Amino acid sequence: LTHGHEDHIGGLPYLLRERPDIPLIGSRLTLALIEAKLVEHRLRPHSLQVKEGDEQTIGPFSCRFYAVNHSIPDGLAVAITTGAGTVLHTGDFKMDQLPLDGRLTDLPSVAALGAQGIDLLLIDSTNAEVPGFVTHERDIKPVLEQVFAAARKRIIVASFASHVHRIQQVLDVAAQAGRRAAFVGRSMVRNMGVARELGYLTAPDDLIMDAKALNGVPDDRTVLVCTGSQGEPMAALSRMANRDHQIRIEPGDTVVLASSMIPGNETAINRVINGLTRWGANVVHKENARVHVSGHASAG
Ligand SMILES: [Zn+2]
Repeated sequence: LTHGHEDHIGGLPYLLRERPDIPLIGSRLTLALIEAKLVEHRLRPHSLQVKEGDEQTIGPFSCRFYAVNHSIPDGLAVAITTGAGTVLHTGDFKMDQLPLDGRLTDLPSVAALGAQGIDLLLIDSTNAEVPGFVTHERDIKPVLEQVFAAARKRIIVASFASHVHRIQQVLDVAAQAGRRAAFVGRSMVRNMGVARELGYLTAPDDLIMDAKALNGVPDDRTVLVCTGSQGEPMAALSRMANRDHQIRIEPGDTVVLASSMIPGNETAINRVINGLTRWGANVVHKENARVHVSGHASAG
């Protein structure tokens, strides 16, 4: 498992229910995110934790792992050497040269492998046809600072529940602005708990509160970090837009969609933006501010 994104791990509870003997191989954070999800399905997988630089013989395969940078920490590429040749599977990756955790896509090691010979390269990027380079993740922070400086009431930020570095920046800006933060949405609470416990997400204890406890804090001192950035109907943000959530959007609230608009989700996302706007929220999204950068490398 190259990384912990939902489109890479979401099917595991269903697969493992059929075949609980299949071992899971992945990095520390990837496995922790999966295991937290599997607990909810009462499944305890056989896991093998690996990290960049490791080599493992697994059955007839010899595997070597490489660091890759992506929109979730701890991503790995894997080179699989078989009797028939060597396969390099990059997983999802980008080439941010200034990532928050300083962990770059390890091109020198991949180049060294290339010199030995790669028979099959499995590589893809949703931005493969986009010229240029993806903006640094850390370039979002000044934009968030502007949004926070302009906000007079509550701030609600929706993001993927696994985007640790995006949420780290939201928390950092919240701390600077003297706001307290809470996580809303089951997967957000679960994943950020895991990321914090393992040290991938850092925040002072007094910054993060329980969402219910945040009710006692003045609106202009709060930030809610929630799920639903893709307009998923059951996620927190959609339910807020529909007035079907205990968090009621009020005029003057600022809602930030710090997220992409995944093709196919446009209608659902725009429905959420419309709903939030109708309740009087100021909605900030990637079309009106640079509050998102892609997790996938451009063509260069
Ligand atoms: Zn991914």
